[in-house]
Parts: sequence; C-alpha cells; structure tokens
Amino acid sequence: MTKIYAIYGASGCGRSLMPVAREHLTRLGIQSRIYFIDDRLTEVTELNGHPAVNYHMFKALPYTNKFVLIAIANSQIREKIAHRLENDGVHLWSVQANNTIIMDHVDMAEGAALSPFVTITSNIKIGKCFHANLYSYVEHDCVIGDYVTFAPSVKCNGNIHIEDHAYIGTGAVIKQGTPDKPLVIGKGAIVGMGAVVTKSVPPGVTVVGNPARILEKR
Ligand code: UDP
Repeated sequence: MTKIYAIYGASGCGRSLMPVAREHLTRLGIQSRIYFIDDRLTEVTELNGHPAVNYHMFKALPYTNKFVLIAIANSQIREKIAHRLENDGVHLWSVQANNTIIMDHVDMAEGAALSPFVTITSNIKIGKCFHANLYSYVEHDCVIGDYVTFAPSVKCNGNIHIEDHAYIGTGAVIKQGTPDKPLVIGKGAIVGMGAVVTKSVPPGVTVVGNPARILEKR
C-alpha cells in the first residue's frame, strides 16, 4: 500500500479540521481514508466516521508514505510532534478549505491548516505548521514564523512580522506596518482576543485591550 493521511489530535482542533482535510483530498481527486491519531487512545476506535488510533498504532500501519496534519492548538506540542514525525520519515501534511483564498507569491512551509474563509493575500512568507482558524486573513508583505497560531477572525494587516510560536486570539486586529518598519509580534507573544495591536509587541509577553497593552504578571 502506498499513501495514507491522518489528523494528529482528536480534540476540538482535530475534529474541526477533519472535514477540511476531507474536502482537501476530494478537491485533489484522492480517495483515501483519513485517520485520527491521538495518544490518549489505547485501542482502535471510531470517531466522527474515521478510524482513530494512537501514534504507535499509526506507525505500524503498512503504508509507504504517511501524511499527517498536526491539529493541536498548543504550538509547543505541535513542534514536539513535528520533530517526532520528521524523525520517523512521516510527512507533514497541509490542508486548506475549498473556499480558502491564496493570492500571489505565497511561500508557505509544510504542515499548515487553513480553515474555511481564510484569505492569504500576496507576497507573504509563512513558516511550518501555521494554523489559521476560521475567517482569519493575512494581508500583503507579512512574514510569519514557525508554529504560529491564529484563532478565528484574526485580522493581520500588511507589513507585519510575526515570530515563531506567537498566538493571536480570536478577533484580534493588528495594525499594518510599513515596508521600512514592519510591525513585529515577538517570539512566543500572546495577543488576547479582541485586542487592537497598534505597535510592536516584545517577545514572550501577553497583550490585551484597545489599544493593546502588556498584561503584567501578578
Ligand atoms: N495529544 C496527543 N499527543 C500529544 C499531545 C496531545 O495525542 O503528545 C492530543 C491530546 O490527547 C488531545 C489533543 O491532542 O486529544 C489536544 O487537545 P486539546 O483539547 O488540548 O486542544 P485543541 O488543540 O484540540 O484545541
């Protein structure tokens, strides 16, 4: 047997992305089962009409080429699993909905999950295992690092740089930068839901509110 496909993570994120993965394969004219992989499972089971196994069971399946979308919102876990898959010769799989729009010169690394109504416009670079949830957009000339996560309806305007492992909450709006001075969201920063980000955010901090301000740790 040759190819098999799977979604890693059978919780909220995975169950929401499975229909996207199904329509992705259908669009490409590929008829194949898609497994769920979840390490909580101790035996083969069935979830939303799909076989569900743990990673050891998946590894034992007799296919030459295995493609896995990591559908887990926590970016540190995504990275850990991505390394495990790469070491085991499993391919990172990218999926996008039928109505996802991707415009010109988008350079996107493997492992992306682009949900329904996502728009990626032109001249954009995106790193590994990007998650763009429902209705999010990325405007022109943005540079997005590895393992970045967008909750639903993130408005990422032009000339913004988002570094690795940043998390952008639901409905956040990020002001556009300029070609000489992009607005930068630092590595591992968290932008709270509904935040209106008007200036660069340092690495590792959480910002909330309008205009977004750093949330001090108590
Ligand atoms: N999980 C896993 N292997 C890991 C880490 C996580 O199979 O090494 C699974 C975990 O059992 C859970 C899912 O990934 O079912 C993560 O789900 P969670 O509810 O934390 O968040 P979601 O990413 O779906 O929003």
